[in-house]
Amino acid sequence: MPKLFLVLSVWLLSVAAVSAAPGAVRCGKLLDVRRGQLLSDQVVTFDADGMITSVGPSAGSTTSAIDLSQATCLPGLIDMHTHITADPRDNGYAGLGNSVPREAVSGVKNARLTLRAGFTTVRNVGARDYTDVAVRDGINAGEIDGPRMLVSGPALGITGGHCDDNLLPYEYHHTSEGVADGPWAARAKVREVIKYGADVIKICASGGVLSKGDLPGTPQYTPEEMQAIADEAHKLGRKVAAHAHGTQSIKDAIRAGIDSVEHSSLIDDEGIALAKQHGTYLVFDIYNDDFILQEGAKVGMLPESIEKEKKLGRLQRENFRKAFQAGAKIAYGTDSGVYPHGDNARQFAKMVEWGMKPIDAIQASTINAAELLGWSEKVGSLEKGRYADVIAVDGNPLADVKTLESVRFVMKGGKVARNDFAK
Ligand SMILES: [Zn+2]
Repeated sequence: MPKLFLVLSVWLLSVAAVSAAPGAVRCGKLLDVRRGQLLSDQVVTFDADGMITSVGPSAGSTTSAIDLSQATCLPGLIDMHTHITADPRDNGYAGLGNSVPREAVSGVKNARLTLRAGFTTVRNVGARDYTDVAVRDGINAGEIDGPRMLVSGPALGITGGHCDDNLLPYEYHHTSEGVADGPWAARAKVREVIKYGADVIKICASGGVLSKGDLPGTPQYTPEEMQAIADEAHKLGRKVAAHAHGTQSIKDAIRAGIDSVEHSSLIDDEGIALAKQHGTYLVFDIYNDDFILQEGAKVGMLPESIEKEKKLGRLQRENFRKAFQAGAKIAYGTDSGVYPHGDNARQFAKMVEWGMKPIDAIQASTINAAELLGWSEKVGSLEKGRYADVIAVDGNPLADVKTLESVRFVMKGGKVARNDFAK
């Protein structure tokens, strides 16, 4: 009997985790993110599974609805590039004192901050020892608060590259768990991270900023290695996100069939044309430059990292504008963990400063991000059949995108995570 009891308990737990009561939200304004239109006095209804059953004009009094009649509702936001188990203080040599269990505890704290900031879905691209898998599973079991998470576990990379850990001398024999050199070793590593819970594969195609001894502009994975990774991941039903600052690596990644290029800092015209041709998403993390340059030294980032960022930050923003104006597909991703979690929405204003209209930036964080996740039918818009992931702000985000930095209501799957309007 114990076995049956166990099965029953697990079943009951999972039911408890997903069940919400059916209900409704009444919105003074509601942003139709697909059309870029603000609709007045709308009601969103949802069922006990937390799925939207209808969206439409309020028909008189809906007394049982959550009252957001003074607010503007939007679909929950999506961040495609988070490191939810990392904090800024974990950089450089200070981070070596941080244990894997401690990192998981940080993840619990950061998942809650991210959800309360209005981000109801994130793609976590890189975490030590599967701490992100643990946080995702804790959220899905209803044990802790946080966004829906698609996670990568450890990022794949070459020996001595951005996704290795190069802080210690040889005698410590320390190599990051995602290191895999050569096409077959890289294929095996894809299989391994999927075995331990990865929803998406993260790789380091080029050098990076916050790593020791490499250069952001130089290639790391070869085209051959990236083709093997993309082929193996796609065969097993996973997408691949490639960290790539360098001009050549961006093109190699796109040609290899990688699904999204992260950072994209030194992309050139040919790279932009290739991204359009292949339908590859570009994810430009153009807010965190401010944080690295202002706070990086204080939180322990290496002097060489600050120097690299000084060379890269402005170029990345200029290339973001170029890629957007050329019509490349752009999804919202911020590299949270480089800067403090919960400030994820600060990038909207940067994207507007560098050439987007507010609705373009909002689409990058809703319908575009959902498409890149492969979750267009689940998240990214307030439409029948999607999760009731609803956020609300004061004022009009189409007029002032900074309103998204002060989200006052958050609902995920019909469950209220934050409601400052009720106070
Ligand atoms: Zn990152």
